[in-house]
Amino acid sequence: MSEHCFAGFIRRIARKRKAMDRFALIIDHESCWGCKACEVACKQENRAPAGIKLIRVSEDGPRVVGDRLDFIYRVNSCHHCDEPECVEACPEEAIEKRDDGIVILNEEACTGCGLCIDACPYHAISLDSDRRIARKCNLCSHRIDSGLVPACADNVCLAHCIHFGRPDEIEEVSPRRGVREKV
Ligand code: SF4
Repeated sequence: MSEHCFAGFIRRIARKRKAMDRFALIIDHESCWGCKACEVACKQENRAPAGIKLIRVSEDGPRVVGDRLDFIYRVNSCHHCDEPECVEACPEEAIEKRDDGIVILNEEACTGCGLCIDACPYHAISLDSDRRIARKCNLCSHRIDSGLVPACADNVCLAHCIHFGRPDEIEEVSPRRGVREKV
């Protein structure tokens, strides 16, 4: 193998390795019927105070569908963007994107300036006014680092619409997907 080919081979392996090291969280919005068990599990796990939701289920509707009213439920939390605007916005470098794709807000380093809140296009960051810091979903990184799954994906969803794992594993368990949140 020439030096040039070998370098290309190493790059392909590195890319594949990086893809394998990443996680994905999929929320099947079409299956959600608004039980909000994910909100409760998240709140308990992350001790979010009143008024702060790191994952939020909201009703969109009602709409008239045929001869009846219908709701759609939308689930929102951090999208763990590939190029996170919150990371760019933070003057304290309190937010970072890990190699596994998770975007972490370090609450110890946060000064509560609120610039990340303004920067996030998904309205996924809240201000905890008691502690004067920003709060966002860190994908329960403390659980993932211990070999567990995020609280919202730990079999609490009554409609079984939140799935966490390696991207190729999740493809198999979630055939219907309203939104895929790549992590
Ligand atoms: Fe993206 Fe907002 Fe999450 Fe930052 S907080 S990674 S900008 S969704």
